Amino acid sequence: MTQTARPPGAEGGRKPAAVLPWQHEDWDRLGALLARERLPHALLLLGLPGAGALTFAEAVVARLLCAVPPTAGPLAAACGICVGCRLVAAGSHPDLHRLEPEEGHEQIRVDEARAAVAFAGLKAGQGGLKVVFVPQAERLNVQAANCLLKTLEEPPLGTLFLLTTHCPARLLVTVRSRCQRFALRPSGRSVALAWLEAQGLPAPEAAARLDLCRGLPLDALDDSAAEQAALYADLVAALAALLSQGPEGDALWLSRVAGERTHATLLPVLTLLCEDLLRLCSGGGTATLAAAAQVKPLTSLKGRLNREAAGEWISACYASARRGLASGLKSDELLDALSLSLHGVVGRLLAAGREGQDQETARRR
Ligand SMILES: [Zn+2]
Repeated sequence: MTQTARPPGAEGGRKPAAVLPWQHEDWDRLGALLARERLPHALLLLGLPGAGALTFAEAVVARLLCAVPPTAGPLAAACGICVGCRLVAAGSHPDLHRLEPEEGHEQIRVDEARAAVAFAGLKAGQGGLKVVFVPQAERLNVQAANCLLKTLEEPPLGTLFLLTTHCPARLLVTVRSRCQRFALRPSGRSVALAWLEAQGLPAPEAAARLDLCRGLPLDALDDSAAEQAALYADLVAALAALLSQGPEGDALWLSRVAGERTHATLLPVLTLLCEDLLRLCSGGGTATLAAAAQVKPLTSLKGRLNREAAGEWISACYASARRGLASGLKSDELLDALSLSLHGVVGRLLAAGREGQDQETARRR
């Protein structure tokens, strides 16, 4: 990094605005890593976009290309006003190369990877570090990943590869082994709730959205919370229909609700519904429900499922999902299998319920 006069904003320890409250420790940990004499030549950040992994990575890129050298002590944010920072903000820094899928493509292909390798071989335009940033490294296809291997292992002096992924298993082992890994910690619930409230969400809504979005604060703040809430409502309605119709009901009900969605979207919301049902059937209040908007339809479901039945239903959910995942079913096959299994359980529960009622009536006579 070139030496420049230190602007007033660059005092040691000031965290970048993009670094979220639950990432402050991670930022300091990364600062300690970068302060060592030898920078890693390839860094793999592991974290979920919904928890802010990408914004964190952007802050790291900005820090690496800021022309104002960091002071000793905790790592400060990029200054935001030097020429390096302004070029990064404008998307035109000559020493930053973003390796991403070409428009209209899901994967990063070999041509894009070759361009990144060629960039790594160039002389730095600003005289400091050169950064190859791969924000969604799981999108590298096999040829592209193979093309990067040699450069990842021994990048030209002064070049750093920064890869980010939420799914390291999708990366070639040879890519993973060439990078120093840095796992971002998940956000704790209380910190995430405080942050959501600071963004203007009332406390109960913040809590409900966070539950619906599996504890991912950024997702809870955007449209995905509304999508999850809609899916939850669809599941409640479908389950109510199934309980009314019994064995005559749609055996592939869950697949129908899922539509184009995969099991990865559906299962967390279904799990949440199961937990809410169990809370309700165990005599818990409605205050703890994830989907506060669904209190009325949920309470009517409770009338048709007692605690044992809810427990059996939930066990069947988990067992069926586990079996499906273990046997490597595709998403639509897994949802079909889960639909059939739960349809069978509902039929049995209703039959057992009727039998119980008949016995009760006979006993009273
Ligand atoms: Zn700067």
